[in-house]
Amino acid sequence: MSNLEGISERVISVMEGIDGLSDLKVSDLRKIPLGTLRKGTYRLHGVCRFKKGVWQRLAKGTDMGVSEVRCIDLHPLLLTEQWSRYADHVLFHEYLHALLPGEGHGPEFRRRESLWPDSEAIAMKEEFGSFIRERRRDILKWVLICPNCDFRYFSKKPLPGGRCRKCKTTLENTQR
Ligand SMILES: [Zn+2]
Ligand SMILES: [Zn+2]
Repeated sequence: MSNLEGISERVISVMEGIDGLSDLKVSDLRKIPLGTLRKGTYRLHGVCRFKKGVWQRLAKGTDMGVSEVRCIDLHPLLLTEQWSRYADHVLFHEYLHALLPGEGHGPEFRRRESLWPDSEAIAMKEEFGSFIRERRRDILKWVLICPNCDFRYFSKKPLPGGRCRKCKTTLENTQR
């Protein structure tokens, strides 16, 4: 069993035990092909790609449910022990997109997303984002560091006067 299949089976079995998802066709998620994003990707952690024409079929009510998903791709660096809790959360998030096409990140989507039992996993989003951006020194040549709380953000360009997202202190721009 590949790591990806292992994550998938784990996430689907947790989803099957969540009461608030029992009206969705969770077991159909096993049909969705899984893959990985390009290794150097630093903006996306995961993506749910639909087949062409899905939005028209949804509007007409002729969509074929989960079969409308072409594939779900996860960031390859999620497939390690270090990030496994966050990987589960990302796949859960993409599976919800597959089950709730057209909902986007609306209130219905967020309500379902909040049912994931590992409530701390979503907090790893920022940390993983920083981890994959840190590695793109070739493109993200600047690091914005908060002198107060040590928050760092990797960027293509300097951002003079930028404030820390966490504590609002003015960030220091350093070329790396
Ligand atoms: Zn999303
Ligand atoms: Zn700060």
